[in-house]
Amino acid sequence: MKRLIEIDPDAGFCPGVVSAIEKAEEILAKDGRILCLGELVHNEEELKRLERKGLVTITHDEIKDATFEKLLIRAHGEPPETYKLVEDHHVDLEDATCPVVLKLQERIRKAFQEMKKKNGCVVIFGKKNHPEVIGLNGQTENNAIVVLEDEDLQRIDFAKPLQLFSQTTMDKGHYDEIAGKIEQNLLKANNKEYKIHKSVCGKVANRVEGLKAFAGKHDVMVFVSGRKSSNGKFLYSVCKRANENSIWVSSESDLNPDDFRSVEKVGVSGATSTPTWLMKKIAEKIRSY
Ligand code: SF4
Repeated sequence: MKRLIEIDPDAGFCPGVVSAIEKAEEILAKDGRILCLGELVHNEEELKRLERKGLVTITHDEIKDATFEKLLIRAHGEPPETYKLVEDHHVDLEDATCPVVLKLQERIRKAFQEMKKKNGCVVIFGKKNHPEVIGLNGQTENNAIVVLEDEDLQRIDFAKPLQLFSQTTMDKGHYDEIAGKIEQNLLKANNKEYKIHKSVCGKVANRVEGLKAFAGKHDVMVFVSGRKSSNGKFLYSVCKRANENSIWVSSESDLNPDDFRSVEKVGVSGATSTPTWLMKKIAEKIRSY
C-alpha cells in the first residue's frame, strides 16, 4: 500500500528559538564551546546535536564557576538576579532572550511600578516554575501572583488595582477563560481599575487552527516534541482533540511500526522547539515500515 506522509508546513522552530540556536552555533563554530544557562531548547535530540558541537548546559549555582567563560541566556529570558550574578562573577554574557519575551518583561516591569504606587498587583497566568515565568516574575521583585487554575484566583484581592499578563506559550483559549473569570470578580467587587494584556505569543496562538485542520485530515497524526516542552504539551492536546489517533514521540525510537499498519495518511508535526530535521527523520522511519 502506498502511504502518504506529510510534514506540517507550519511546524518547526519559532523565530525566538531559531535565533538562540543560531547564536549558539556561531559561537560554537568559532570557539568550540559555550555554556548555556538551562536547556537551550526543550528538545532532547536538538540538545544532543548541539552538545556534540561543544554546548554545555549549566545551572544557576554553577554561574560562580564560569568566570571569563561565554554564557548563553536562552529564549525564555532570565530575572534581573541572574544578570547580577553573571556580572559579579565576570562571566561573558551572550543574551539570546527572545525579543517578544524581552518586550513582555519590559511591560511587566512598567506595570509593576504603576501597581506599586496604587497598592495594586500584577498577575501572571502561567506555570510557576517555568523559566519564562521566573524571568517575568523577576521584573516585579517576585511579587506577582502566578495563577494557572481557578483555585489560584483565591489569592487575588479583587478590590485592588490589577494588571494581568500571560506567559507567552500558554493556550490562548485557557488564558481568555481565566481572564474572563478574573474580570467577573473585579466587576463584582466594583473595581474598574484593571488591565488585561494580550501576551500569548502569536506564533503559538496562530498555530492552533492550522494544526487542528492538519491533524484532522490524516489517519494517524505523529506529534514530535521534547517531554518538557510546555508548548509541546499544549499543541499535542490540540492534535489529540482533532484526531483520536495522535501519537506523541520525542525521537524515532518511540515509534511503533504496529501503529502504522494499513494506515494510508500520516501527518507529522511538532512544537515550536522541534527541529525540522527531526520531523524529516521521523517521516523517513515511518516510510520504511
Ligand atoms: S514561542 Fe514566541 S515568545 Fe516564545 S521563544 Fe518563540 S517566538 Fe519567542
